[in-house]
Order: sequence, then C-alpha cells, then structure tokens
Amino acid sequence: AKVRARGLCVGYAREMDERYIASRKLKADLRQTLQDAGLTTMFQPMYRADGTRIECCEALVRWTHPQRGPVSPDVFIRMAEDMGVVSTITRFVLDRACRECMRWPGHIAVSVNLSAHDLRNHDIVELVADTLAATGLSPSRLHLEVTESCLMDEPLAAGALLSELRAMGITIAVDDFGTGFSSLAYLDTLPLDVVKIDRSFVRNVTSDERRLKLLKGTVNLVRALGLNVVVEGVETEEQLAVIVENGAADLVQGFVFSRPLTSEQILALTSA
Ligand code: C2E
Ligand code: CA
Ligand code: CA
Ligand code: CA
Repeated sequence: AKVRARGLCVGYAREMDERYIASRKLKADLRQTLQDAGLTTMFQPMYRADGTRIECCEALVRWTHPQRGPVSPDVFIRMAEDMGVVSTITRFVLDRACRECMRWPGHIAVSVNLSAHDLRNHDIVELVADTLAATGLSPSRLHLEVTESCLMDEPLAAGALLSELRAMGITIAVDDFGTGFSSLAYLDTLPLDVVKIDRSFVRNVTSDERRLKLLKGTVNLVRALGLNVVVEGVETEEQLAVIVENGAADLVQGFVFSRPLTSEQILALTSA
C-alpha cells in the first residue's frame, strides 16, 4: 500500500495494483527493458531561490511500459533492487547524466540518485571514476544523492565510500531529509555537502505557522553545520514566497519552477 500511495500519484499508471507490481511479468518486462536499453532520463532543474538561475539538474529515470504506460521509478527501482539489477540502472543514468551535462553551460551541475545497493558496494567508486573519465565531465559538476534511510543502513561503510567519492571532488547530497526517524548526529559525522529537505516540510507552510517554524529551524540547523540546503517539492508561488521571505533555501526544486525536462529542453532554457 505504501508503494502505491507514494509512487503512483503523478502521471504514472494509476490503476497498476500491488499484485501486478509484484508479478513476474512486470519483472520480466523490466529485465527485457534493461537488456534493450529501453530506459530514458529526464532532468529537473534546481533553481536559486530567487529564480534567477539554474544551478543543477537532477537526473530522474523513466520507464514507459509498452502496455501499461509510464511506471513510477519508486516502483521499478524497488523491483530492480529486489532483482539485484539496480546497478544496471545506476550505470545507465550516471552515464546519460554525465554525457548530457557536458552539453549544458559549464556552471550547471548534474545530480544522480544512488540506491541503497550502490552504497553497499565499492564498485560504485570505480564506476563513477570510469564514467567521469569516459565522458570528460569534471567531478565538480557531479552531485550524488543518497537517501537518509540508505545512509542509516550501514553508516560506517557508507561513510567510507562517500569519503572516497568526495575526495574525487564530487558533491554529496542527502535526499528526502527528514523522512526517516534517524538521529541527526550523522549530519555532522558523514561526509556531506548538501541536504535536500523533503517536500513533506513544504506542505502547509503557507497555512500553518508551526510547519513554517519546523522548516526554518531545520534549514538553520543544516546551515549551522556548513551544509547547503535544497528544498524539494515546492509547487506553488505562495510556498515559494514564504520560503524566499524566510531565507529558508539556497536552492529550490519543484513544479513551481519546472517539472522534469528533456536534456534538450534544459539546453534551450539555459543557453538562451
Ligand atoms: P526523489 O529522488 O525524491 O525525486 C524527486 C521526485 O519528486 C521526482 O519523482 C520528481 O518528479 C518529483 N517532484 C519534483 N518536484 C515536485 C513537486 O513540486 N511536487 C511533487 N509532488 N513532486 C515533485 P520521480 O521522478 O517519480 O521519482 C521518484 C523517486 O524515484 C525519486 O525520488 C527517487 O527516489 C527514485 N528515482 C528516480 N530516478 C532514479 C534513479 O535514476 N536512480 C535511483 N536509484 N532512484 C531514482
Ligand atoms: Ca533525489
Ligand atoms: Ca527527494
Ligand atoms: Ca523519494
């Protein structure tokens, strides 16, 4: 029920039920798609809070099922994890992200999501190094996003991997911050640069003073530790205005500025 509630809300096959998601057929179809290189990627801009400039674009993987239509990545990433094939997706997205970023203006970075599995394997360090070498992208233009929950899986091992990646000059971001029930001490002990505050913090900031206080307090805490703040899931002008008035974000990502776009659209937006 959780997958359904979270994953299928925006534009994905709504009627796809739990049974089908768990079915062997969908898994077989995913396996085939991976073999055929049938995935694509979209890119969602992160803007400076004042809206003047795109600083980074997040790569978001897409799978359009031939019969079912678009499947939420929340659904098929989890499937790929269960099937032990998620590294194929990571490799694909990382490669595409670095290649496309090379076409964009030099001040724009690209951000790639890692899965829990990626953080449990040292292979990721070599994969990232190889991809940067193959595409020619500067490590300073690559960001990697790891969720709070996969950091908490094995914090010591994850910390060691992230330190190596960071030593290469890559920026490390914590994704979906504030959705887990983990202690905040890891913010100080793990090698991190950016915190992406989950969109659940944004909901109701315009109507509920306490929600706004929670967002402001969280942003202040993150900044006090020397980390940069991205606020995710900003959907309305009203939310944006409250965030800007309160100085509660360095970067803003959300439908208020832009939905995920093709690389060509990013290019058109940024090279004008
Ligand atoms: P995420 O990393 O938190 O990505 C942000 C998600 O929020 C994206 O959904 C994006 O389209 C959506 N979003 C952006 N702005 C707004 C907004 O203003 N309002 C709302 N309601 N939603 C917004 P998407 O593309 O469906 O991805 C869902 C999740 O799937 C991602 O959450 C991430 O956890 C996972 N995912 C996507 N691409 C990849 C990938 O290449 N690799 C891995 N490992 N996971 C991925
Ligand atoms: Ca993300
Ligand atoms: Ca997120
Ligand atoms: Ca998420």
